[in-house]
Amino acid sequence: MIKKVKVEIDRNSGFCFGVVNAIKKAETELDGRETLYCLGDIVHNSLEVERLRKLGLRTITLGELGELRNRKVLLRAHGEPPSTYQLAQKNNIRIIDATCPVVLRLQQKIHNCYRRNSPKGQIIIYGKEGHAEVNGLVGQTEGTAIVVESLADLSKVDFSRDISFFSQTTNSLAGFKVMVEAIRKQLEQGVTFSWYDTICRQVSNRIPGIKLFAVTHDVVYFVAGSKSSNGRILYDCCRNANPRSFFISHPDEVGDLLPEDAIRIGVCGATSTPKWLMEQVAGRIKEIYQIKEKAELDKSLSTVCCIIFDRAVSDYHLDDDVNYELPNPWEEESLEHRLYRKHWIDAIQWHLEDLIRDPQIRPEEALKVKRRIDRLNQDRTNMVEQIDDYFMKQYGSTVPLPGAGINTETPAWAVDRLSILTLKVYHMNLESMRHDASEEHKFACLTKLSVLLEQKNDLCYALDHLMIDIREGRKYMKTYKQMKMYNDPALNPVLRGKNG
Ligand code: SF4
Repeated sequence: MIKKVKVEIDRNSGFCFGVVNAIKKAETELDGRETLYCLGDIVHNSLEVERLRKLGLRTITLGELGELRNRKVLLRAHGEPPSTYQLAQKNNIRIIDATCPVVLRLQQKIHNCYRRNSPKGQIIIYGKEGHAEVNGLVGQTEGTAIVVESLADLSKVDFSRDISFFSQTTNSLAGFKVMVEAIRKQLEQGVTFSWYDTICRQVSNRIPGIKLFAVTHDVVYFVAGSKSSNGRILYDCCRNANPRSFFISHPDEVGDLLPEDAIRIGVCGATSTPKWLMEQVAGRIKEIYQIKEKAELDKSLSTVCCIIFDRAVSDYHLDDDVNYELPNPWEEESLEHRLYRKHWIDAIQWHLEDLIRDPQIRPEEALKVKRRIDRLNQDRTNMVEQIDDYFMKQYGSTVPLPGAGINTETPAWAVDRLSILTLKVYHMNLESMRHDASEEHKFACLTKLSVLLEQKNDLCYALDHLMIDIREGRKYMKTYKQMKMYNDPALNPVLRGKNG
């Protein structure tokens, strides 16, 4: 049976300000007159690169920059070593510099440190060998800085010489601390060790948030390009918090095999992941569930009712608030819309009946609740009639067979009972799992639950057969509308005034 699925996009995921700034600069320069070149992918996300390519942004390599003359070239947020600026100047290239200010500051810091301490000291950079930002940082030291990615790489370090230790902006803070400790332990006496936490908080600040996002979802789709460093770090955090976290780069990778038991599905991403891409992934997930729902909805009336009621009961209990109503997900006038609305009314009424039984309730509050229950009773009857109208439209013109009979109730009143049964099953199930209840209580609830489920099966069977009989003319439909007396002042002596 299809369950209600909620797909959420992490509000804190998506481009950091460094990437936003670079893309804005590119979009401003892409005026359609002159080609704008970008040295390396503007962002580690091939789909965003493709979007900008269609607007005229051409990605080039350093080798291609060497061939270019009199053009304009954008330097992305990662930054570049001084040699790139020299090459651009030599080739009369106009630089559009989109280096992130955080990276620029780090380059400056490393540059100053190198000038101060060279040749006595060593500059060590905790980062990914060959990464564009790291290349730009190493460039500040005339290529002398040592890049370390892991503890094993510390074998490249000379512990008898002074060390200045920096980090690539997008590296892991926890990893950086481990490295600092490892270096400290191996230092020879008298050696000066200075370390600088240069990790960008746009990444590290996202870690607690993304962990929370991962644990509060049944399944997480982490969207990022395979080359994104912070993508790998953030994805690892997701996976550690929730093993059902999947790394994908494209909506098509969602696949058709979504976990059946997932209710809350999260979509998040790296600082290089565009919001529009996460939205596409969320859309794809919803699409897959809708196809599943549609396939189920093509089945019998009882199946349709069970799907809609299960979804409505689950929707209602997301907030469990009698004053809140989620938008009806089905098209107005459709059967599904009426069934969903019907069940929502029943769910509110069910919980109001609980509230009014609270021994502490104030009398004036109880009266308000009672009035609301009365109004809902009317709404409920109206909805039943609207559902019968739907069936009448479908089968009202069927000519009954000779000797055709009439049922004790209309299809919509059977549907009404099925809706109430759904609520009973839901709550009995909860009772049977209560942590604070005795084993006897839970066992008794399980026994009742099995009876309720049997009753539900029988009702579904009877309902489907009633519909077949109506469709084939063995039974005919007749509705009797608005026979309620208690809400009608003309029929209720109290409402019209006993002596009136
Ligand atoms: S992650 Fe930080 S340093 Fe890197 S581009 Fe974004 S804002 Fe700049």
